[in-house]
Amino acid sequence: MDYKKELSTYFQENCLLNEPMHRHTTYRAGGPAEVYVYPKSTEDWCFVLKLAQTENIPLRIIGFGSNILVGSKGIKGITCSTKRMNQTAVKGNRVTAEAGAALDKVCETAVRAGLAGMEKLSGIPGSVGGAVYMNAGAFGQETFDCLEYVEAIDFEGRPAVLLKKDLPHAYRHVEGIGNYIVLSAGFSLEKKEFAPLMEARNGVLHKRIEKQPLDFPSAGSVFKRPVGDYASRLIDEAGLRGLSIGGAKVSEKHAGFIVNFNHATPEDIKHLMEEIKRQVRQKSGIELELEQILWGEFEV
Ligand SMILES: Cc1cc2nc3c(=O)[nH]c(=O)nc-3n(C[C@H](O)[C@H](O)[C@H](O)COP(=O)(O)OP(=O)(O)OC[C@H]3O[C@@H](n4cnc5c(N)ncnc54)[C@H](O)[C@@H]3O)c2cc1C
Repeated sequence: MDYKKELSTYFQENCLLNEPMHRHTTYRAGGPAEVYVYPKSTEDWCFVLKLAQTENIPLRIIGFGSNILVGSKGIKGITCSTKRMNQTAVKGNRVTAEAGAALDKVCETAVRAGLAGMEKLSGIPGSVGGAVYMNAGAFGQETFDCLEYVEAIDFEGRPAVLLKKDLPHAYRHVEGIGNYIVLSAGFSLEKKEFAPLMEARNGVLHKRIEKQPLDFPSAGSVFKRPVGDYASRLIDEAGLRGLSIGGAKVSEKHAGFIVNFNHATPEDIKHLMEEIKRQVRQKSGIELELEQILWGEFEV
């Protein structure tokens, strides 16, 4: 039996073939994933991992697709979504959440329980797994500030509990995390008064609405913050605010974002990324580094 049939038989309605990735990425652009599955249990993961390994098929993990750009020729192999793994629990000062839980919901849960440490991550539109993978952060707070441990599985199906100290991390970077699939995470928080926490959360959500182009599809900041500067400032200084290629544009509201303002192709977005890099390099001599992740094949 070929591997697609095996996955379809095992996962039934939780296996999609030639699934357009514009449905699963916040850029709302991207070609098809050959096979798109929704594992839930450890058994499901072991089934997929074993099949991928024996048949030598590439395998990727997607959370909410809020930091990924998929090429229009699509993704080969198996793409696994964590969306069916979304349980969250609070016990004492600890919040635990499965990888596919929405980070913002976890932040809200923590705040409602009077637990401090995640409130400034409110509004980041990713999953817990994606936040751990990226060490997502905002307003001076990072996922790893309060992360205690990660329950994971490696690509050979071996379970692991990784403590924060096992995962050296920096700004939007976690060493070695690419060897694992994050299944859940535990966050160690501090008991505080509810009202100021909710006020901090609402303040952050308000700032996002005020500063970010949330009325258009995007994947947040395109580039990492260069040391001692801001990518958006350099992009602005190079006069690129509003620059467009096809349906993709440097946001007029926040120059660090590329927005899909009119049915952009993935290639429109990618070419605009390259053009921004080129012009910023020319203008300021600074080499911007992509924060967003490119997947699959692009048209040339
Ligand atoms: C409007 C907007 C605002 C944003 N603001 C911020 C911000 O303030 N700060 C910030 O840091 N980011 C921000 N982002 C970017 C994005 O939301 C974060 O990077 C987020 O952490 C990505 O999570 P995700 O679930 O969407 O990951 P995806 O985009 O689905 O995946 C990103 C990477 O994580 C890996 N991954 C995902 N889940 C797992 C898992 N369970 N196990 C192993 N690997 C996994 C994927 O393989 C991929 O390599 C913003 C995006 C948007 C659209």
